[in-house]
Amino acid sequence: MGLFIDKCIVCGELSAIYDKYASSYLSLPSSVRVKKCSCGMRWLYPIPDEEDYINIYSNQYYNHDMLGKGSYNKMIKYKYTWFNLRIDHLAKKYPNHRSILDIGAATGEFIKIAKDKGYAAEGIELSEYACKEALAKNNVFLYNGTIDNYLKCNPNRLFDIVHMGHVFEHFANPDETLNSISSLLNENGILVIEVPNQFNSLEDLIRLYLIKDKIQFTSMSLHHPYFYSKSGLLALVQRHGFQVDHITTNPNGRYLNNIGYNKIILRNLFRFAELALGMGPYIELYAIKHNDHLI
Ligand SMILES: [Zn+2]
Repeated sequence: MGLFIDKCIVCGELSAIYDKYASSYLSLPSSVRVKKCSCGMRWLYPIPDEEDYINIYSNQYYNHDMLGKGSYNKMIKYKYTWFNLRIDHLAKKYPNHRSILDIGAATGEFIKIAKDKGYAAEGIELSEYACKEALAKNNVFLYNGTIDNYLKCNPNRLFDIVHMGHVFEHFANPDETLNSISSLLNENGILVIEVPNQFNSLEDLIRLYLIKDKIQFTSMSLHHPYFYSKSGLLALVQRHGFQVDHITTNPNGRYLNNIGYNKIILRNLFRFAELALGMGPYIELYAIKHNDHLI
């Protein structure tokens, strides 16, 4: 078990401390803890190495109860709704951007919807199982492998939009990942990232500091090496020469299948508080690639 990262990838500070609340919430073994920088960025310490991640992303990943609240298949209907909304939003905002690469395409739903809306869309997916499911269920062919393998096989492929939905937080080397993504985008291409607002959302703050909640430890407790804050994600992509065009913690359509908070009044009050405080459950970012790439 792996990489002991002392320097914050966002601000470069070396003074990060252990976050006992986040470590306790994840029920981490004593050999792993969550570190937190004064800038708000958190990460696993140490970050699992490549071999650990191969075990975590075995084929079981897609059969597993990923959120502990329903099977992967049950999530698909919900995904369809907000994927549709996101693609419509992108089409309205960037009408001349007509090709999309979906990285971490899972079982191909985002690509299927994009294609149905007239986009030229391709996907990369690490799990062979998910690639087979994408073909069988959605008639979508995905490249099975890493971004770097894809780049080697397709050295001249460029896209108008690169999309990553709940994928970026899984990468152990975000700087390298952003460099690779940049090389896949046309000039003025759009990077679209959604990550959980983990440990920063209103709900998570209540779980961490008030309820002192704990989730059961599984191999998936280690599947996010980095926990991004809104300001951290923004600073990171800016450092890679992107201009942030849109960032929110309340992406469109994400409350249509709200989990928990069954009482409608309570749920809406909670949602209002999240909106008012800018502390929603997910961070959605659109950023434009420019020439002045700094790294
Ligand atoms: Zn920092």
